[in-house]
Amino acid sequence: MIRVGVVGATGRMGAEVCRAVDDGSDLSLVAAISRSRAGERLEDVLGLPGCPVVASDRLDALVEASADVAVDFTGAEHAPQHIAWCIQQGIHVVVGTTGFPLDEAWGRQDAVGVLVAPNFAIGAVLMMRFAGEAAASMPDAEIIELHHAQKRDAPSGTALLTARAIAEARGVDGGDVPIHSIRLPGLVAHQEVLFGAQGQTLSIRHDTTDRSAFMPGVLLAIRNVGRRPGLTVGLDPLLEGA
Ligand code: NAD
Repeated sequence: MIRVGVVGATGRMGAEVCRAVDDGSDLSLVAAISRSRAGERLEDVLGLPGCPVVASDRLDALVEASADVAVDFTGAEHAPQHIAWCIQQGIHVVVGTTGFPLDEAWGRQDAVGVLVAPNFAIGAVLMMRFAGEAAASMPDAEIIELHHAQKRDAPSGTALLTARAIAEARGVDGGDVPIHSIRLPGLVAHQEVLFGAQGQTLSIRHDTTDRSAFMPGVLLAIRNVGRRPGLTVGLDPLLEGA
C-alpha cells in the first residue's frame, strides 16, 4: 500500500487527485494539505465517503501521517519549496504544478524520487512525442496552447516541453519555436502543434475536456516515483518503461 498525501488538496486538480487516490486499491490517502479548508474533514469538503483524513495547513502533516509520496498541485510560487522540503524529509514527490524553473539540485540527490510533469494526460504526452517525431522531417512549427481563463502561467508548461522536444529533434535551441497562448472561459486544456512545409501542413492536436483525463497519469507517477530516485521530467519515461 502506498501512503499518499496531497498538497493543494482542495484545489481543482488536488480534489480530483484525492478522489482518484481514495479509489485506488493499492493507494491510501493519508494526508491533505489545504490552506483554505484546514481543520475540515475530506469526507465533508470533497464528499469522500468514510475518508477519515482532516485537512491541514502544515506540510508536517505529511510526516505525521508517514506519507510515502506527496502530490503537489499548488502554485508556481510554492511548489519549488515543497519539493525541497520533501527531499529533506525523504518523501517522494509528484509535481503537477506548472510555471516554475527546475532546480538541478533536485537531480543531484539519489535518495528521493522527484517527478515533475506539466501534463499528466496520456494523449498530451503522445502529442509531445509525435511532435518531436514530426519535427525531424518538418522543422517549421508553431504551437497554439489554449487553457481556461484561471490558468496563471503562460506559455503553458506543456507548450514549453513540446518546444523542447521539437528543438531536440531539430538539434537546436527551443527558444525559436513560436508559442501562442489563449486563455478563455469554456476551455480546459488544449494544444495544437502546426507544422508547415512546401504545399502542405500537418496539425497534431490534443484536447482535454475533463480534469479526470489527468488521473491515470498521476496514479502512474505515484506508483513509480519511488523507483526513480533523482529528477524525472515529464511522464514519457514512465510510459516507455510501462
Ligand atoms: P487551483 O487554484 O484550483 O488549486 C490550487 C490549490 O493549491 C488552491 O486550493 C490553493 O489554495 C492551494 N495552495 C496554493 N499554495 C498552497 C500551499 N503553499 N499549501 C497548500 N495549498 C496551497 O489550481 P489548479 O487548477 O488545481 O492548478 C494547480 C496547478 O496545477 C497549476 O500550476 C496548474 O497549471 C497545474 N496543472 C497541471 C496539470 C498537469 O497535468 N500537470 C493539469 C492541470 C493543472
